[in-house]
Amino acid sequence: MKQHEKQENPRKGTLKIIPLGGLGEVGANMMVYEYEGEILVVDTGLMFPENDMLGIDYIIPDISYLIQRRNKVKGIVITHGHEDHTGAIRHVLEELQAPIYATPLTRGLLEAKLARNGMAKKAHIETVNAGESRKIGPFTVDFFHVCHSIPDGVGLGIDCPAGLVVHTGDYKFDHTPVDNKPTDYAKLAEFQRRGVMALLADSTNSERKGWTPSERVIDDAFDKVFRDAPGRILVATFASLISRMQQVGNAALKHNRKMAFAGVSMVDNAAIARTLGYLKLPDSLLVNLEEALHMKDSEVVIMCTGSQGEPTSILGRLSNGSHRIFDVKKGDTIVLSSHPIPGNEESVSGTINRLFERGANVIYEALAPVHVSGHASQEEMKLLMHLTRPKFFIPIHGELRQLKQHAQLAREIGIPAENIEVILNGQSVEFSNGKMRLAERVPASYVRVHGSGVGDVSDMVMQERDLLSKEGVIIVNLTMDKSTNRSMKDPEIITRGFMAQQGGGELMNGLKNRVTDTAAKANGHLQKDVEQAVSNYLYRETRRKPMVLVNINKN
Ligand SMILES: [Zn+2]
Ligand SMILES: [Zn+2]
Repeated sequence: MKQHEKQENPRKGTLKIIPLGGLGEVGANMMVYEYEGEILVVDTGLMFPENDMLGIDYIIPDISYLIQRRNKVKGIVITHGHEDHTGAIRHVLEELQAPIYATPLTRGLLEAKLARNGMAKKAHIETVNAGESRKIGPFTVDFFHVCHSIPDGVGLGIDCPAGLVVHTGDYKFDHTPVDNKPTDYAKLAEFQRRGVMALLADSTNSERKGWTPSERVIDDAFDKVFRDAPGRILVATFASLISRMQQVGNAALKHNRKMAFAGVSMVDNAAIARTLGYLKLPDSLLVNLEEALHMKDSEVVIMCTGSQGEPTSILGRLSNGSHRIFDVKKGDTIVLSSHPIPGNEESVSGTINRLFERGANVIYEALAPVHVSGHASQEEMKLLMHLTRPKFFIPIHGELRQLKQHAQLAREIGIPAENIEVILNGQSVEFSNGKMRLAERVPASYVRVHGSGVGDVSDMVMQERDLLSKEGVIIVNLTMDKSTNRSMKDPEIITRGFMAQQGGGELMNGLKNRVTDTAAKANGHLQKDVEQAVSNYLYRETRRKPMVLVNINKN
């Protein structure tokens, strides 16, 4: 690692990098590069909610730092079309106007996303192809091709008078990618010759030894699934996993099945990728969902969303029998072709159980290689560092433990510990005169987006939604005599989403007696006492905790 010491160009000015999202978490990626007050934004991602965030659609980075400097934002570069890099684009464009730079497929996906929100006209998007460079404010940005689980992903060489930074985006070193375009190793070597001041690299799989398998291994797994499946096949994955669509399409062609996409984002993304030539599926292969449902079971494969156990996704609905067009049935083979995002394991597992319950055969990562990661493992990470030989290293895109592990790898290959900085969202870092130092913290908390609006949903509301969705609700109407303060008639008890499996009569009578007793004894805290008594009784009898609402009418 001698060469990284060389500095041919005199360094001028100060470059600041500010992570607004994606460091300390998987998702909501957003990095700010600021040179002498002028700003380049890399990625505008969202993060899917964790289990305990019921009813929240997604989370986006806090962009108040950018809003305060909206006229200084010279451009927004999007590295690839995944939601954790694109999902917040409309929220950013609602606050500031800056040209967006993206490769053709990424652009297509961005445009569709913006069009769904009536914002297509607001965006000025410039197409860039991998291998090209653009001058954006004080930065010269080289776009280089990287392999990932979506075509047309790029990493960036971001140059300014303070030095050259390589920002990988999501990458792996797949020698046999689905689209036959390996990562641009030559470009990485060229960066090394120019002298890389800092490397910011994807840490997702830093805990995984060895090499990430090629996307090709999935082909064999799908081949087997298609050979063995007696009835319909459903493949659930992310709507933006275009490479997987190609692989499922190839298997369908080989095994004489027709293919349908279910869900708006899936249908849209497939159409865009086909139009732009990134998804090569003949017209004769494709049918729409309606047609697929009327065909012989053994002749169709349906691709849908929901591999993360999202309750409102197609697979989520199928698993609890609430999809409006179709149901899972005995003989269906359902493939979950993705890895649960940390925090989603429980809901994924619940979905799998419910699908089995409905008679489907479910195949998931633990059973067969129906998914491989789109992110580099340890050996690839080390190779990247050797290829670029950065002076400084900052791990990005990962939870803290993944960032830490990535930093450890960097030390192992000889980058001095003082040249490595593990930072989390909001912690900015400055480079000047070839030195790196921690700089100020900026606001970088979560912004929760629910429904169509942005803003805060109080914790109270969240808890209520949680209770309602998991345990249902019990409403107790008590009519009290004003003069005697005794209940005038039997309490009325209404249940929603609770009593179904509990088999009603006996429990309900017990509950009524309990309410009447409590009301007779209560002094002063009638409502609270009844609430408490009902909760306790139900928990004792059923081990469930529905939301309890008590109305008291006085006559
Ligand atoms: Zn990605
Ligand atoms: Zn990502």
